[in-house]
Amino acid sequence: MITRLLVGALASLLIGGAAYRRRSLTWSGWLGAVIVGTLTVGCGGWLWGGLIVVFFVSSTVLSQVGHQRKAHLSALLWEKGDQRDFAQVMANGAVPTLAAVGYALWPQPAWWAVALGALATATADTWATEIGVLSSRPPRHMITLQPISAGMSGGVSPLGWLASLLGALLIALAAWLGHLLGWGIPLRTRAWVPLATLAGGFCGSTFDSLLGALWQVAYWCPQCDQPTERHIHRCGAATTYYRGLPWLNNDVVNALSLLAGAGVALLTYALLG
Ligand SMILES: [Zn+2]
Repeated sequence: MITRLLVGALASLLIGGAAYRRRSLTWSGWLGAVIVGTLTVGCGGWLWGGLIVVFFVSSTVLSQVGHQRKAHLSALLWEKGDQRDFAQVMANGAVPTLAAVGYALWPQPAWWAVALGALATATADTWATEIGVLSSRPPRHMITLQPISAGMSGGVSPLGWLASLLGALLIALAAWLGHLLGWGIPLRTRAWVPLATLAGGFCGSTFDSLLGALWQVAYWCPQCDQPTERHIHRCGAATTYYRGLPWLNNDVVNALSLLAGAGVALLTYALLG
């Protein structure tokens, strides 16, 4: 375990450092990545940490696709810039990390199901956002089905939906393959692994869109006359409250949807494992 903790720390220092240099992470985001990487590899094992790397690297690569269009959207809409900070890293990394720590204290496959559902949700959400915003057609509000501006939370598009399925599928295949190769934790049966991961990722990311559509906080820029997730718009104007629950920002929505995905994966494990 000491070896794994050290390897996890070193690998996440290097990968996080590369992401910091590419401006995908802030200093605090890098620190978050080191905490997540060290504890998942140390407590959960190689495959646990490896899946975090699959999530992180695939999301970072996808964030570079269509960079100019995203820079434009990010300036208009999103709460934070395109560099991920500590809260954003933890919104995606806390559940898989706590599950790994739980596994080290009490080695039960149920922790693995929790981590898989959470990671599949994180990957599905991130892929849906990074690819979905490039859709040529505007997304539609998940409940009202009215067209809304690209990048606003709660919007769904066929392209984003497909991307989220592929993201969850990647984690499911990687987890299954890792187990076949003997890199995972000891399991009595493994047929539930891809199913729980896919079900968790699909339900978790749907829950994310639902929270975004119904209750996530949004602000209004009086100068540009448009909705945004930012307190201060990139144009410099202070935004005013527009709709949603004031405490339910994007990070909280992410963390809650990871918990939902983890719950669905846990249920799948309880039924099939
Ligand atoms: Zn503005």
